[in-house]
Amino acid sequence: MSGDGTARVVILGGGFGGVSAAKELEHSDADVVVVDRHDYHTFQPLLYQLATGLLEATAVGHSLRDLLQGQKNARVHQASVTAVDLDAHRITFDDLEPLEYDYLVLGLGAEVNFFGVDGAAEHAFPLYTLGDALRLKEHVLDRWEATDRDPELVDDGALNIVIVGGGATGVESAGALAELYRGEFAKDYPGVAPEDARVILVEAGPELFGMFKPKLQEYAEKALTDRDVEVKTGEVVASVEPTKVTLKSGETLKAHTLVWGAGLQGNPLVQSLDLELQRGNRIGVGPDLTLPDHPEVYVVGDVAAITDAKTEQVLPQLGSVALQSGEHAGKEIAARLQGKEPKPFAYKDKGTMATIGRGAAVVQMLGGRTKKGVTAQLAWGTVHLALLPTNEDRAKAVVDWSGAALTHQRVGRIITTTSEE
Ligand SMILES: Cc1cc2nc3c(=O)[nH]c(=O)nc-3n(C[C@H](O)[C@H](O)[C@H](O)COP(=O)(O)OP(=O)(O)OC[C@H]3O[C@@H](n4cnc5c(N)ncnc54)[C@H](O)[C@@H]3O)c2cc1C
Repeated sequence: MSGDGTARVVILGGGFGGVSAAKELEHSDADVVVVDRHDYHTFQPLLYQLATGLLEATAVGHSLRDLLQGQKNARVHQASVTAVDLDAHRITFDDLEPLEYDYLVLGLGAEVNFFGVDGAAEHAFPLYTLGDALRLKEHVLDRWEATDRDPELVDDGALNIVIVGGGATGVESAGALAELYRGEFAKDYPGVAPEDARVILVEAGPELFGMFKPKLQEYAEKALTDRDVEVKTGEVVASVEPTKVTLKSGETLKAHTLVWGAGLQGNPLVQSLDLELQRGNRIGVGPDLTLPDHPEVYVVGDVAAITDAKTEQVLPQLGSVALQSGEHAGKEIAARLQGKEPKPFAYKDKGTMATIGRGAAVVQMLGGRTKKGVTAQLAWGTVHLALLPTNEDRAKAVVDWSGAALTHQRVGRIITTTSEE
């Protein structure tokens, strides 16, 4: 309870889940407190576009204070959650006084899972945060600049990139990196032969895009190979070193860059909650998204294992699931504050989609209908523009995408954070 007796809703995590929950509470009689370790909301689906210079950081990260500025009943704090005491309704932070709550929305997301692969935590480049995307971009640029100064680095694999994971993150990153390599970099560094800068995608399963129908899988593989991506399916990464990747088959790939797009696990904080966790460290929730023994706690987005009432399958870790589950939590809390009965969550499937490169994308709808190519890319663009948090972000993305489509230019291909002066 806040000082004036208003019910306090604490929202942990300012991702799709947390922000949409907060917005739904705007007209409720609640004191809404949003806490995130960053002062910004990250639009993860576009991280690969930041990593390849297609978008700038402000198009992918949006100030949380700005997003909730007009909402009189909401406050934002930047702090890291260190513990949640579900029985005492109390949260502790690294650098903020503890907070007590009447309702809690847990939207702390997921983080990379290296599955214990030797050297991956030290040397791989994951792609889950804004910092990850900037680090990858600057590392790749740094390798090209270093090779420009010392062309012998080519023989050490300085320009080669290995991407692990044939799901959306891996395929989207491979396609975008290949377009960057064969497009802008070919012009920026005319002395480098294409075979000296390889983009290699490694997937453990028998095909890419396991979640899509075979005809979309074949289309995606062809779209990648057309872009000069070498696809290795049925191969598992055994170890990662700074300049070399070893596969379980024994093959070694010289590469100074390994992008990890192979796995997720729920936020590590969930392990301290004394709850039974489901696959991938996700918290199982009831039909209304609350914890079975804690009806005042809603779990939303990537950290939740939500069973779809229609299909009886656990919903995937997607932006639309996070957004809709967050909205549900916000609406439900607002309704309960007015004395209304809780309602179950109903997910509206807008299709599964991924983009491979310019003019190449795939979409699979719930009923099994599919789209590919430019039509699929337009559908992808429409759905992702709708997920962006503000009209200003949408306008910025449209300008950058249109610019890139017309001129093939990558506005953001400069090193800023690692340069000395
Ligand atoms: C590279 C990539 C590409 C993707 N592409 C797509 C796509 O094309 N389409 C799609 O629908 N989905 C896509 N997704 C998935 C989608 O982005 C996620 O499902 C969605 O972001 C989950 O939202 P969330 O609110 O649950 O978590 P997040 O967006 O991860 O938000 C969690 C928040 O919690 C904060 N946090 C974490 N730990 C702490 C702590 N201890 N203290 C305080 N704050 C903390 C984080 O800073 C973060 O802001 C992609 C994901 C990735 C990584």
